Amino acid sequence: MLVARNLTKNYSNLPVLRGVDVSVSKGEIVAIVGSSGAGKSTLLHILGTLDAASSGEVLINGVQTSTLSSRRLADFRNRHLGFIFQFHHLLPEFSALENVCIPGFIAGTKKAAVRERALFLLETLGLRDRLDHRPNQLSGGEQQRVAVARALINQPDVVLADEPTGNLDSRNARELHELFLRLRDQFGQTFVIVTHNEELATMSDRQLVMKDGKIVPS
Ligand code: ADP
Repeated sequence: MLVARNLTKNYSNLPVLRGVDVSVSKGEIVAIVGSSGAGKSTLLHILGTLDAASSGEVLINGVQTSTLSSRRLADFRNRHLGFIFQFHHLLPEFSALENVCIPGFIAGTKKAAVRERALFLLETLGLRDRLDHRPNQLSGGEQQRVAVARALINQPDVVLADEPTGNLDSRNARELHELFLRLRDQFGQTFVIVTHNEELATMSDRQLVMKDGKIVPS
């Protein structure tokens, strides 16, 4: 599903990734853990094609992402990848339902089909009676679940999450973990999650431990 080979990344002269290999299978939940500054977010951004590696390659479902032009890359990202960040990054002037629909509209999917899938996802995530709420009318846990629904709207190959529970209290964090497991079991959804949350890391199928820009034995 996702393969990265010998990734390096330098910022000016500073090596941040120093030869990273990652391989993730369909339906796997992989946690990337390690101390602050180890390079976890940098790796996640490169896996998600949001940033380019200095060298090495990233293949998603067999597509070598570095060969795509920036326009095709944006299209590829929209269709094949879902993102969840620590802060939900929902658009404040749109409702929950609209926020979830937007990436589907961008993909050019028929409006009725996007709406139907958004309703299904929001219902699955327990948000059936929050469709018309704007982000500031939702709790932190609800906002993050809307962000999960948005990440899933185009049926991505992989969902990449950067500290998804970093802004949640322990109860909402646990609910989000259970949600990830359910999405994996129900839909075979693949996740790569950068996290400091030990419980989330332990619940994942596999942990990759990063230290000084490398993956080290756990
Ligand atoms: P982690 O997610 O493990 O905390 P990061 O990937 O955010 O680590 O950062 C790894 C290192 O790369 C840090 O030393 C950070 O200061 C540096 N870094 C990250 N992004 C940039 C950038 N855009 N420019 C320069 N240095 C950066």
